[in-house]
Amino acid sequence: MLGAQVARPFPLQDTQEPRSIPLFDLGRQQARLRADIDRRIARVLDHGQFILGPEVQELEAKLAAHAGVRHGIGVSSGRDALIMALMALGIGPGDAVLVPAFTFAATAGVVVSVGATPVFVDVDPVSYTMDPAALEAALADLAAHRGPIPKAVMPVDLFGLPADYAAIAAVAEQHDIVVIADAAQSFGARAPDGAVGSLAPITCVSFYPTKPLGAFGDGGAILTDDDDLAEAVRQIRTHGRQGNGDEAVRLGMTGRLDTIQAAVLLAKLSVFKAELHRREMVANLYDSLLSGAGVVTPGRGADTRSAWALYTIQLEDRDRVRDELQARGIATGLFYRIPLHRHPAFSGFLTGREDLPVAEALAGRVLSLPMGPDIADDEVAEVATTLKAVL
Ligand SMILES: *Cc1c(COP(=O)(O)O)cnc(C)c1O
Repeated sequence: MLGAQVARPFPLQDTQEPRSIPLFDLGRQQARLRADIDRRIARVLDHGQFILGPEVQELEAKLAAHAGVRHGIGVSSGRDALIMALMALGIGPGDAVLVPAFTFAATAGVVVSVGATPVFVDVDPVSYTMDPAALEAALADLAAHRGPIPKAVMPVDLFGLPADYAAIAAVAEQHDIVVIADAAQSFGARAPDGAVGSLAPITCVSFYPTKPLGAFGDGGAILTDDDDLAEAVRQIRTHGRQGNGDEAVRLGMTGRLDTIQAAVLLAKLSVFKAELHRREMVANLYDSLLSGAGVVTPGRGADTRSAWALYTIQLEDRDRVRDELQARGIATGLFYRIPLHRHPAFSGFLTGREDLPVAEALAGRVLSLPMGPDIADDEVAEVATTLKAVL
């Protein structure tokens, strides 16, 4: 799949073949940035500090500044960021963590990984993010049935749009649980209250290649204002050691971001603001071209800026439309076809009282269209025109 993303999929201008439009086009971005990336990687090979080298520290400072928080910590992946956040907060067996039912499977998987119980919460049909009223209902259900003790809620900034942290924080405070932001898809986004990274006590980011800020391999980051949590995460990512000490002061893991990935990310971060702006323009163009077409375009608040990891519409007859678009050379994505409570991996955590109608409906209706900083206006127009013809 990655190979297809990186390949240049466009035939020469003068061929008669219809061109194809990929869901993500990472090859164009690489071409734009290649010289800078080559130079930065060469510098890492020269100094040889492959683990926690100077590029990692430089990136961490820039990520923290971008988010407006005291600490940025480079880690090995988005999933590991979430696991380390849970470990730093001491969450484990007997604890419940509330997660949205409509997201990538990792969001619940990390909860299981630390021995805690995931509890599924329905999402809002407009924003696709966790519904604060459904969170309240899920907490009431846990209390009524003496389930595991709720310790944390993990909203997801789905498709790049920040969750409703103000409302979720209010519920969390009432119930004395902590908010862990799964911002795997949303670094760079902003809510009225601030940038992603500053909207929760601890925020977890992924640098998987197709995320808005993507490395050339796995990577992630934790952002926080909390000195103690930051210290705990730094220990956990190096086997539970304090600094360079040989004593394991707590349980840890191999959770570091590679220096080479930090070098790639520094190159990408230097153009990130412009890329976010371009993604926003692409989304606005889709909105206007698809208005009146009989599909639901992504909702967002007027003063919220999505990172536009994906542009995801809802429509009837989704699978037929997807097939017909594919036949016409337009790739689309299914994020997500299976709500979390339907994954076999989590079947052991169901109570039988799950009431998740929005997540169920979205799984059958969503379709993600080609998105990225390098898609051209005429390609967006071609996607929209083809989609309307197929509908
Ligand atoms: C991508 C993603 C993750 C996992 O990130 P990796 O870097 O692939 O481990 C977790 N949660 C969500 C919502 C994601 O989209």
